Amino acid sequence: MTDEAAARVAQWVRPEIRALSAYHVPDASGLIKLDAMENPYGWPDALRAEWSALARATGVNRYPDPRAQPLKDALRTAMGIPQAAGILLGNGSDEIIQLIALALAGPERTVLSVEPGFVMYRMIATFVGMRYCGVPLRAGDFSLDLPALRAAITAHRPAVVFLAQPNNPTGNCFDEAALVEIIEAAPGLVVIDEAYAPFTEASLLPRVGDWPNLVVMRTVSKMGLAGLRLGYLAGPAAWVDELDKLRLPYNVNVLTQRAAELALRHKAVLDAQTAAIRAERDRLFDALAALPGVVPFPSEANFILARMPAGRAAELFAALRERGVLVKNLHGAHPLLADCLRVTVGTPEENAAFVAALAAAL
Ligand code: PMP
Repeated sequence: MTDEAAARVAQWVRPEIRALSAYHVPDASGLIKLDAMENPYGWPDALRAEWSALARATGVNRYPDPRAQPLKDALRTAMGIPQAAGILLGNGSDEIIQLIALALAGPERTVLSVEPGFVMYRMIATFVGMRYCGVPLRAGDFSLDLPALRAAITAHRPAVVFLAQPNNPTGNCFDEAALVEIIEAAPGLVVIDEAYAPFTEASLLPRVGDWPNLVVMRTVSKMGLAGLRLGYLAGPAAWVDELDKLRLPYNVNVLTQRAAELALRHKAVLDAQTAAIRAERDRLFDALAALPGVVPFPSEANFILARMPAGRAAELFAALRERGVLVKNLHGAHPLLADCLRVTVGTPEENAAFVAALAAAL
């Protein structure tokens, strides 16, 4: 039976899907979790109490509001989305990447991004049968290689360009003038993925509407609501209307809609947490820079990429785990990430435990 199933799988599942490995999420039980860019702070008691009352009053027997208009209105106000822009909601911004790819897919069509970059752009291009072109960032400062990008745009005429601002996993922001050049050179859609917007001043959200091919994608995950799974996209209504046709009708569940509205009414709580994470990021950077042979890269996100002494990333990753701290080992993911670990900024106590464990392991 197992053999027969394997034979059917080999016959029917597309070879490029069989060649993939599933997105790996390591078990973090009992560990200080600094691997996934989560906000380490929970909600204060008063907010939890308000949520309990709201949850009690929310019927789960009915389908959620398919348009989630109150949530969109709350997001527009809280995040400063331009009045003229359309808004699309996703079950996390991962789902929005998938909706964009579904809308633009075609056998000879290309998704273009930069490397090292967010892995989902490449994975989702594969899911929908699109080509993927990853243009290397400049070694040293991970900035955009504009001549190489211009050449790739001319050669591939990409249906869509994805650029994360700030970039994951490098943490740096790209030069805004360079992003504008890419928007103006690209024949298709350009998605600026501002997942880490809470940790930087850089944003193109106010400029949505200035170009016919710019959309800005965000998520509430990194600001402290990763468990809700809510992403949003702002862009010209013409794009949003098409993408909305591919969205499954009830992709944002009722508990997420109510909880996100509540959190946005108390956005000051999340903003204070975000500010604390930003301050702590600077302290963590200095602590890493003081360790022998460790080179952290400047970050405008809630994580720091750091190069370990040559040849030691895997060993240090394992030693950290042994000492109770989970980070992300990026050695082997891309040549520019050789010897690199990525650590999410946690609470002061978590960061101190991480630095102490790393210092001891070095
Ligand atoms: N974009 C970038 C650049 C990310 O790093 C992530 C999360 N790792 C996402 C999008 C997806 O975020 P979510 O699906 O939680 O909204």
